[in-house]
Amino acid sequence: MFETTIAGSLPKPVWLAEPNTLWAPWRLEGALLEQAKGDATRLAIKDQEDAGIDIVGDGEQARQHFVHGFLERVEGIDFAHKVEMGIRADRYKAMVPQVIGPVRLKGRVHAMEARLARAHTRRKLKFTLPGPMTIADTIADRHYGDKAKMAFAFADLLNEEARALAADGVDVIQFDEPAFNVFMDEVTEWGVAALERAAAGLACTTAVHICYGYGIRANIEWKATLGSEWRQYEKIFPALASSRIEQVSVECRNSKVPMSLIGLLEGKDILVGAIDVATDAVEAPEDVVAVVAEAMKYVPKARIQLSTNCGMAPMRHDIAFAKLAALAQGAQLARARYA
Ligand code: ZN
Repeated sequence: MFETTIAGSLPKPVWLAEPNTLWAPWRLEGALLEQAKGDATRLAIKDQEDAGIDIVGDGEQARQHFVHGFLERVEGIDFAHKVEMGIRADRYKAMVPQVIGPVRLKGRVHAMEARLARAHTRRKLKFTLPGPMTIADTIADRHYGDKAKMAFAFADLLNEEARALAADGVDVIQFDEPAFNVFMDEVTEWGVAALERAAAGLACTTAVHICYGYGIRANIEWKATLGSEWRQYEKIFPALASSRIEQVSVECRNSKVPMSLIGLLEGKDILVGAIDVATDAVEAPEDVVAVVAEAMKYVPKARIQLSTNCGMAPMRHDIAFAKLAALAQGAQLARARYA
């Protein structure tokens, strides 16, 4: 009960990429870079185990960004001519590559780090991929002419890689869909269906991480405009509840998402975000227990796992792992108290 896990990304070592930065450029090239990504992956596994995390991940050490790390291995995309685009309904501007033809995988995307992580831990292994709707919102379309059509094309590629990851021994595959609180109508019209296409036929557990973003400035400013209660998920949770996705990861610590909303996700495991990634203040284990107690009002305790609110890529390494230790200690306390 109350197994612990991470949302996905972890800080990278200083020798791999500039710390405390999103989209940080790599500090090495070629074969040295590949070697360093592998080293960082093994360290990330070790650090999570030491912190006491039950379901560990690769910490996304081998990719610069959670969306573009996947796109780099896709044919039909022009990376040489990026264009500026407002993403997440213009919440922020980003330089994005363009889709210029039918998309196809060039080969495996994450085989190296998935196999390495699998070889170096006996714990359950989780692996994250971007969700199809979020990909479609983070790239400029010059080919498909229809956002949903393009998202389904990417869903097929995600499914191809996800099946291979499951064959590599990954226990949980989580799709990250931060676009799910931006385009609520489209989520129910086609977003959840595209997600199911990406997760179709997987032999492992399937999850989706939805979120209001990292603690970066553009997000904090956007969140300030959303009012005192964030009820966007009320519109999409019924569609997720009736989907075949098994787990839903939601930010709950210091969140303005009313906890009662997770009650709409009947039958799902809830990966309750009990660690705030938008502040450097390290939670006390009792803070984690308090989130558990609140979540238990709406979800059976057997369906609760504990996670971070979102990725920790931009955080300081020591703070991130102190937070993960607090998460594991909090889970232990909660087990003692509520088991
Ligand atoms: Zn997130």
